[in-house]
Amino acid sequence: MSGLIGLIGYPLGHSLSPVFQQVALDYYGLKFKYELWPTPSSGLPSLVSKIREFGYLGANVTIPHKIDIMPLIDEIDDVAKTIGAVNTIVNKDEKLVGYNTDAFGFLKPLLELTNFDPDGARVLLLGAGGAARSACYALLNAGVRHLILANRTLSNAEKLASQSQRFLKDPKNAKVSLVTLSDTKLNSYVSSADLIINATSIGMRHSNFDQESLLTTKQISQDTLVYDLVYNPRETQLLRNAKEAGARTLEGIPMLVYQGAKSFELWFEKKAPIDVMMHAC
Ligand code: NAP
Repeated sequence: MSGLIGLIGYPLGHSLSPVFQQVALDYYGLKFKYELWPTPSSGLPSLVSKIREFGYLGANVTIPHKIDIMPLIDEIDDVAKTIGAVNTIVNKDEKLVGYNTDAFGFLKPLLELTNFDPDGARVLLLGAGGAARSACYALLNAGVRHLILANRTLSNAEKLASQSQRFLKDPKNAKVSLVTLSDTKLNSYVSSADLIINATSIGMRHSNFDQESLLTTKQISQDTLVYDLVYNPRETQLLRNAKEAGARTLEGIPMLVYQGAKSFELWFEKKAPIDVMMHAC
Protein backbone atom coordinates (compact mmCIF):
# COMPACT_ATOMS: atom_id res chain seq x y z
CA MET A 1 0.00 0.00 0.00
CA SER A 2 1.50 3.28 -1.11
CA GLY A 3 1.94 6.00 1.48
CA LEU A 4 -0.42 8.60 0.07
CA ILE A 5 -3.83 9.89 1.11
CA GLY A 6 -5.43 12.95 -0.44
CA LEU A 7 -8.27 15.42 -0.40
CA ILE A 8 -10.27 15.40 -3.64
CA GLY A 9 -12.19 18.58 -4.47
CA TYR A 10 -12.18 21.61 -6.71
CA PRO A 11 -11.02 24.24 -6.14
CA LEU A 12 -9.23 23.42 -2.88
CA GLY A 13 -7.43 26.62 -1.90
CA HIS A 14 -5.92 26.60 1.59
CA SER A 15 -7.50 23.55 3.15
CA LEU A 16 -6.86 22.71 6.81
CA SER A 17 -7.20 18.96 6.25
CA PRO A 18 -3.53 18.33 5.30
CA VAL A 19 -2.47 20.21 8.44
CA PHE A 20 -4.41 18.21 11.02
CA GLN A 21 -4.21 14.89 9.14
CA GLN A 22 -0.43 15.12 8.79
CA VAL A 23 0.08 15.74 12.52
CA ALA A 24 -2.04 12.65 13.22
CA LEU A 25 0.08 10.58 10.79
CA ASP A 26 3.28 11.90 12.34
CA TYR A 27 1.95 11.29 15.87
CA TYR A 28 1.89 7.56 15.11
CA GLY A 29 5.06 7.69 12.97
CA LEU A 30 3.05 6.46 9.97
CA LYS A 31 5.00 6.82 6.73
CA PHE A 32 2.11 8.41 4.91
CA LYS A 33 1.69 11.82 3.34
CA TYR A 34 -1.64 13.64 3.15
CA GLU A 35 -1.87 15.71 -0.03
CA LEU A 36 -4.27 18.04 -1.78
CA TRP A 37 -5.61 16.55 -5.01
CA PRO A 38 -7.46 19.42 -6.73
CA THR A 39 -9.57 17.73 -9.42
CA PRO A 40 -12.12 19.28 -11.78
CA SER A 41 -15.18 17.11 -12.56
CA SER A 42 -13.70 15.97 -15.88
CA GLY A 43 -10.68 14.50 -14.05
CA LEU A 44 -12.59 12.56 -11.40
CA PRO A 45 -12.77 9.14 -13.17
CA SER A 46 -9.03 9.14 -13.95
CA LEU A 47 -8.14 10.14 -10.38
CA VAL A 48 -10.21 7.23 -9.05
CA SER A 49 -8.41 4.91 -11.51
CA LYS A 50 -5.08 6.25 -10.24
CA ILE A 51 -6.05 5.52 -6.60
CA ARG A 52 -6.72 1.91 -7.66
CA GLU A 53 -3.63 1.59 -9.87
CA PHE A 54 -1.16 2.96 -7.31
CA GLY A 55 -2.93 1.44 -4.32
CA TYR A 56 -3.34 4.69 -2.39
CA LEU A 57 -4.80 4.08 1.06
CA GLY A 58 -7.77 6.35 0.51
CA ALA A 59 -9.02 9.90 0.28
CA ASN A 60 -11.31 12.54 1.61
CA VAL A 61 -13.83 13.98 -0.82
CA THR A 62 -15.19 17.50 -0.70
CA ILE A 63 -17.15 19.99 -2.82
CA PRO A 64 -18.18 19.43 -5.61
CA HIS A 65 -17.58 15.66 -5.78
CA LYS A 66 -19.34 14.10 -2.76
CA ILE A 67 -22.21 12.81 -4.90
CA ASP A 68 -20.47 12.28 -8.26
CA ILE A 69 -17.83 10.02 -6.71
CA MET A 70 -20.47 7.47 -5.65
CA PRO A 71 -20.91 5.58 -8.96
CA LEU A 72 -17.13 5.45 -9.43
CA ILE A 73 -16.39 3.35 -6.32
CA ASP A 74 -17.15 -0.28 -5.43
CA GLU A 75 -19.16 -0.17 -2.20
CA ILE A 76 -20.96 2.46 -0.14
CA ASP A 77 -21.71 2.03 3.53
CA ASP A 78 -25.27 2.44 4.78
CA VAL A 79 -24.91 5.88 6.41
CA ALA A 80 -23.36 7.37 3.26
CA LYS A 81 -26.08 5.72 1.17
CA THR A 82 -28.83 7.21 3.32
CA ILE A 83 -27.28 10.68 3.38
CA GLY A 84 -26.53 10.39 -0.34
CA ALA A 85 -22.95 11.68 -0.16
CA VAL A 86 -19.47 10.21 0.34
CA ASN A 87 -16.66 12.19 1.99
CA THR A 88 -14.22 9.35 2.74
CA ILE A 89 -12.85 6.52 0.59
CA VAL A 90 -10.99 3.54 2.01
CA ASN A 91 -9.00 1.29 -0.31
CA LYS A 92 -9.28 -2.11 1.31
CA ASP A 93 -8.77 -5.57 -0.20
CA GLU A 94 -8.59 -3.93 -3.64
CA LYS A 95 -12.03 -2.37 -3.20
CA LEU A 96 -12.83 1.31 -2.84
CA VAL A 97 -15.42 1.72 -0.09
CA GLY A 98 -17.22 5.02 0.49
CA TYR A 99 -18.22 6.43 3.89
CA ASN A 100 -19.74 9.63 5.21
CA THR A 101 -18.11 11.02 8.36
CA ASP A 102 -19.68 14.50 8.16
CA ALA A 103 -22.75 13.61 10.22
CA PHE A 104 -20.52 12.11 12.93
CA GLY A 105 -18.24 15.17 12.74
CA PHE A 106 -21.23 17.47 13.15
CA LEU A 107 -22.74 15.66 16.15
CA LYS A 108 -19.65 14.74 18.15
CA PRO A 109 -18.64 18.32 19.15
CA LEU A 110 -22.22 19.06 20.23
CA LEU A 111 -22.21 16.06 22.55
CA GLU A 112 -18.59 16.29 23.72
CA LEU A 113 -17.93 20.02 23.89
CA THR A 114 -21.30 21.49 24.84
CA ASN A 115 -23.11 18.51 26.42
CA PHE A 116 -26.14 19.42 24.33
CA ASP A 117 -28.71 16.65 24.29
CA PRO A 118 -30.54 16.62 20.93
CA ASP A 119 -33.12 14.11 22.22
CA GLY A 120 -36.46 15.94 22.33
CA ALA A 121 -34.91 19.28 21.31
CA ARG A 122 -36.29 22.00 19.07
CA VAL A 123 -33.67 22.91 16.45
CA LEU A 124 -33.49 25.64 13.82
CA LEU A 125 -31.21 24.69 10.92
CA LEU A 126 -30.26 27.58 8.62
CA GLY A 127 -29.30 26.31 5.15
CA ALA A 128 -30.19 23.34 2.96
CA GLY A 129 -26.94 22.46 1.16
CA GLY A 130 -24.48 19.63 1.73
CA ALA A 131 -23.51 20.59 5.29
CA ALA A 132 -27.16 21.00 6.27
CA ARG A 133 -27.93 17.55 4.87
CA SER A 134 -25.40 15.83 7.15
CA ALA A 135 -26.57 17.93 10.12
CA CYS A 136 -30.20 17.02 9.36
CA TYR A 137 -29.37 13.30 9.27
CA ALA A 138 -27.42 13.49 12.53
CA LEU A 139 -30.07 15.52 14.35
CA LEU A 140 -33.03 13.37 13.32
CA ASN A 141 -31.14 10.21 14.25
CA ALA A 142 -30.27 11.72 17.62
CA GLY A 143 -33.97 12.19 18.44
CA VAL A 144 -34.65 15.89 17.72
CA ARG A 145 -38.38 16.53 18.25
CA HIS A 146 -38.91 19.53 15.99
CA LEU A 147 -36.50 20.45 13.19
CA ILE A 148 -37.11 23.73 11.38
CA LEU A 149 -35.35 24.02 8.03
CA ALA A 150 -34.83 27.68 7.06
CA ASN A 151 -33.33 28.47 3.70
CA ARG A 152 -33.10 31.35 1.22
CA THR A 153 -34.46 29.14 -1.59
CA LEU A 154 -37.58 27.32 -0.43
CA SER A 155 -37.35 24.60 -3.10
CA ASN A 156 -33.95 23.49 -1.75
CA ALA A 157 -35.38 23.26 1.77
CA GLU A 158 -38.29 21.26 0.37
CA LYS A 159 -35.85 18.83 -1.27
CA LEU A 160 -33.99 18.37 2.00
CA ALA A 161 -37.25 17.93 3.92
CA SER A 162 -38.39 15.21 1.54
CA GLN A 163 -35.00 13.49 1.78
CA SER A 164 -35.12 13.75 5.55
CA GLN A 165 -38.01 11.27 5.63
CA ARG A 166 -35.35 8.64 4.85
CA PHE A 167 -33.27 9.86 7.80
CA LEU A 168 -35.96 9.32 10.39
CA LYS A 169 -35.82 6.23 12.56
CA ASP A 170 -39.41 6.80 13.60
CA PRO A 171 -41.20 9.45 11.48
CA LYS A 172 -43.96 9.79 14.13
CA ASN A 173 -41.52 11.13 16.69
CA ALA A 174 -40.16 14.14 14.81
CA LYS A 175 -41.70 17.09 13.06
CA VAL A 176 -39.93 18.89 10.19
CA SER A 177 -41.07 22.44 9.29
CA LEU A 178 -39.95 24.67 6.45
CA VAL A 179 -39.51 28.41 6.27
CA THR A 180 -37.66 30.91 4.08
CA LEU A 181 -35.13 33.27 5.61
CA SER A 182 -37.42 36.22 4.86
CA ASP A 183 -40.56 34.69 6.41
CA THR A 184 -41.88 36.58 9.43
CA LYS A 185 -42.40 33.23 11.21
CA LEU A 186 -38.62 32.86 11.40
CA ASN A 187 -38.45 35.21 14.40
CA SER A 188 -40.56 33.01 16.63
CA TYR A 189 -38.59 29.93 15.57
CA VAL A 190 -35.36 31.76 16.47
CA SER A 191 -36.52 32.80 19.92
CA SER A 192 -37.89 29.38 20.85
CA ALA A 193 -35.07 27.16 19.53
CA ASP A 194 -32.88 25.16 21.91
CA LEU A 195 -30.22 25.00 19.20
CA ILE A 196 -29.61 27.16 16.12
CA ILE A 197 -27.17 25.98 13.44
CA ASN A 198 -25.77 28.06 10.63
CA ALA A 199 -25.12 25.74 7.68
CA THR A 200 -25.17 28.52 5.08
CA SER A 201 -22.12 30.22 3.61
CA ILE A 202 -22.97 33.50 5.37
CA GLY A 203 -20.00 34.62 7.46
CA MET A 204 -17.37 32.80 5.38
CA ARG A 205 -14.05 34.59 4.85
CA HIS A 206 -13.31 35.64 1.24
CA SER A 207 -17.03 35.71 0.41
CA ASN A 208 -19.22 38.75 -0.27
CA PHE A 209 -20.89 38.27 3.10
CA ASP A 210 -17.97 37.56 5.45
CA GLN A 211 -19.02 40.26 7.95
CA GLU A 212 -22.70 39.34 7.83
CA SER A 213 -24.93 37.32 10.14
CA LEU A 214 -28.38 35.90 9.44
CA LEU A 215 -29.44 36.72 13.02
CA THR A 216 -29.03 39.86 15.13
CA THR A 217 -28.11 39.96 18.82
CA LYS A 218 -31.67 41.02 19.65
CA GLN A 219 -33.22 37.99 17.96
CA ILE A 220 -31.12 35.42 19.84
CA SER A 221 -32.25 34.14 23.23
CA GLN A 222 -29.66 33.61 25.96
CA ASP A 223 -31.06 30.10 26.47
CA THR A 224 -30.12 29.02 22.95
CA LEU A 225 -26.95 27.26 21.85
CA VAL A 226 -25.67 28.71 18.56
CA TYR A 227 -23.50 26.43 16.38
CA ASP A 228 -21.86 27.97 13.33
CA LEU A 229 -20.50 25.41 10.84
CA VAL A 230 -18.44 28.13 9.13
CA TYR A 231 -14.86 27.58 10.36
CA ASN A 232 -12.99 30.39 8.64
CA PRO A 233 -13.04 32.73 10.49
CA ARG A 234 -13.32 30.80 13.74
CA GLU A 235 -15.47 33.50 15.28
CA THR A 236 -18.12 34.64 12.82
CA GLN A 237 -20.40 37.65 13.18
CA LEU A 238 -23.22 35.24 14.13
CA LEU A 239 -21.13 33.84 17.00
CA ARG A 240 -20.24 37.38 18.15
CA ASN A 241 -23.94 38.30 18.12
CA ALA A 242 -24.83 35.14 20.03
CA LYS A 243 -22.17 35.82 22.68
CA GLU A 244 -23.43 39.38 23.05
CA ALA A 245 -26.92 37.95 23.60
CA GLY A 246 -25.51 35.79 26.41
CA ALA A 247 -26.02 32.54 24.45
CA ARG A 248 -23.62 29.59 24.41
CA THR A 249 -21.73 29.07 21.15
CA LEU A 250 -19.90 26.37 19.22
CA GLU A 251 -17.59 27.10 16.28
CA GLY A 252 -17.08 25.05 13.09
CA ILE A 253 -13.46 23.87 13.53
CA PRO A 254 -14.30 20.91 15.81
CA MET A 255 -16.73 19.53 13.20
CA LEU A 256 -13.99 19.72 10.58
CA VAL A 257 -11.49 17.95 12.84
CA TYR A 258 -13.93 15.27 14.07
CA GLN A 259 -15.03 14.32 10.54
CA GLY A 260 -11.34 14.03 9.61
CA ALA A 261 -10.57 12.06 12.76
CA LYS A 262 -13.28 9.54 11.87
CA SER A 263 -11.75 9.21 8.37
CA PHE A 264 -8.32 8.61 9.98
CA GLU A 265 -9.83 5.82 12.09
CA LEU A 266 -11.37 4.22 9.00
CA TRP A 267 -8.04 4.27 7.16
CA PHE A 268 -5.80 3.08 10.00
CA GLU A 269 -8.11 1.35 12.51
CA LYS A 270 -6.36 3.39 15.23
CA LYS A 271 -7.80 5.99 17.58
CA ALA A 272 -7.28 9.44 16.09
CA PRO A 273 -5.23 11.79 18.31
CA ILE A 274 -8.00 14.38 18.55
CA ASP A 275 -6.18 16.79 20.88
CA VAL A 276 -3.12 16.86 18.62
CA MET A 277 -5.29 17.39 15.53
CA MET A 278 -7.34 20.14 17.18
CA HIS A 279 -4.21 21.87 18.43
CA ALA A 280 -2.80 21.99 14.86
CA CYS A 281 -5.69 24.14 13.58
P1 NAP B 1 -23.64 24.47 -0.20
O1 NAP B 1 -24.03 23.06 -0.40
O2 NAP B 1 -23.20 25.30 -1.34
O3 NAP B 1 -24.90 25.23 0.51
C1 NAP B 1 -24.85 26.61 0.75
C2 NAP B 1 -26.03 27.05 1.60
O4 NAP B 1 -25.86 28.45 1.90
C3 NAP B 1 -27.37 26.92 0.91
O5 NAP B 1 -28.37 26.64 1.85
C4 NAP B 1 -27.57 28.33 0.32
O6 NAP B 1 -28.92 28.68 0.13
C5 NAP B 1 -26.99 29.17 1.44
N1 NAP B 1 -26.56 30.49 0.97
C6 NAP B 1 -25.54 30.76 0.12
N2 NAP B 1 -25.45 32.10 -0.08
C7 NAP B 1 -26.44 32.66 0.66
C8 NAP B 1 -26.88 33.99 0.84
N3 NAP B 1 -26.27 35.03 0.25
N4 NAP B 1 -27.92 34.23 1.68
C9 NAP B 1 -28.54 33.19 2.30
N5 NAP B 1 -28.18 31.90 2.14
C10 NAP B 1 -27.14 31.64 1.33
O7 NAP B 1 -22.47 24.58 0.87
P2 NAP B 1 -22.16 23.60 2.10
O8 NAP B 1 -21.16 22.61 1.70
O9 NAP B 1 -23.46 23.14 2.68
O10 NAP B 1 -21.42 24.61 3.11
C11 NAP B 1 -22.15 25.59 3.84
C12 NAP B 1 -21.24 26.18 4.93
O11 NAP B 1 -20.87 25.17 5.86
C13 NAP B 1 -19.93 26.74 4.36
O12 NAP B 1 -19.62 27.93 5.05
C14 NAP B 1 -18.90 25.68 4.69
O13 NAP B 1 -17.62 26.21 4.90
C15 NAP B 1 -19.46 25.14 6.02
N6 NAP B 1 -19.06 23.75 6.23
C16 NAP B 1 -18.38 23.48 7.37
C17 NAP B 1 -17.98 22.20 7.64
C18 NAP B 1 -17.24 21.92 8.90
O14 NAP B 1 -16.63 20.84 8.99
N7 NAP B 1 -17.25 22.80 9.88
C19 NAP B 1 -18.26 21.17 6.72
C20 NAP B 1 -18.96 21.47 5.57
C21 NAP B 1 -19.35 22.78 5.33
P3 NAP B 1 -29.68 28.42 -1.26
O15 NAP B 1 -30.20 27.03 -1.20
O16 NAP B 1 -30.73 29.45 -1.26
O17 NAP B 1 -28.66 28.62 -2.37
